[in-house]
Amino acid sequence: MTDLVQKLYREQTLSKQELIELINCDDSAAERLRSLAEKVRIENYGHDIYVRGLIEFSNYCKQDCRYCGIRKSNLNCERYRLSFDEIMECCGEGYALGFRTFVLQSGEDAYFNDDRICEIITAIKKKYPDCALTLSIGEKSYESYKRYYDCGADRYLLRHETADKAHYEKLHPKAQSFENRRRCLNDLKEIGYQTGCGFMVGSPYQTDECIAEDLLFIKEFNPHMVGIGPFISHRDTEYRDFPSGTLEMTLRLLSIIRLMLPKVLLPATTALATIDPRGREKGILAGANVVMPNLSPVSVRKKYQIYDNKICTGDESAQCRRCLEERVHSVGCRIVTDRGDSKNI
Ligand code: SAH
Repeated sequence: MTDLVQKLYREQTLSKQELIELINCDDSAAERLRSLAEKVRIENYGHDIYVRGLIEFSNYCKQDCRYCGIRKSNLNCERYRLSFDEIMECCGEGYALGFRTFVLQSGEDAYFNDDRICEIITAIKKKYPDCALTLSIGEKSYESYKRYYDCGADRYLLRHETADKAHYEKLHPKAQSFENRRRCLNDLKEIGYQTGCGFMVGSPYQTDECIAEDLLFIKEFNPHMVGIGPFISHRDTEYRDFPSGTLEMTLRLLSIIRLMLPKVLLPATTALATIDPRGREKGILAGANVVMPNLSPVSVRKKYQIYDNKICTGDESAQCRRCLEERVHSVGCRIVTDRGDSKNI
């Protein structure tokens, strides 16, 4: 039998069947996979870990993704919006703590129309010209994406969620189409954003075939960033009784993605840290090179509950920053004060 770990390292891709075999490999192959992914991370990014300050500025959402706690039809979700001034304050606090990338994330909130989003982008880029600005605000038209980009937005995160159309249609209502999600990703890349796609590990009805398709899609799309984290159920959704994605599978997939796209920006996500107390550290050891702590005001953090038991909802940003510093050190790395642009160009 060919050694799939070595083959992936050499060729940076595998066939669908081989990927299915690799994600089910035994523990010793999984450890070789991890160790090669760590090596490749170090070759490309050294021991530097990039931080992104996440500002969750609204949890209003017109979409109805079945897995998500802030979906429109969750009437138990207490909705909030940050004001322009509150968003700017988050940036100020983040800048002082050494963040040089801000990520503005929200549900799809009609209140924040293009004029308002552009006003925020323009103000942040004017006040912090040395910082990168990432948007993660969902599906928009080409024209809207272009306007944000022309105002100075640098990056956009939009997970593809699943590369299998039938699976996509199970996870979302009819009004949300697989094709539109793909159209958005293509538009973002064409406009010139550093673009991020990604998916949940262990989402309801996900099969090994789905995961292999996700990996092949990521390879082909060749994004600058890939966000993956375990699915975690939310009590107010129809998936409340589905099990969470596992630590082991998430780590394997992080390593596979690092070997497929050696220069990609790969976060160890909050969801990963939610299912395991050392999730972020283990993510870094598996090839991740980015962490995205929360900069939102503590007063709203509990309300941006896309899944149950999300961590760090009670901590001040400065506490989170210190805690992360220690965690990153414990695995031989350091947090750097840098925009942390993608080398995958
Ligand atoms: N509205 C934005 C931001 C969505 S929240 C957008 O559409 O891009 C960011 C990501 O959280 C989603 O893309 C999804 O992959 C993830 N997510 C949502 N619900 C989740 C859950 N229950 N468990 C784990 N991740 C979840």
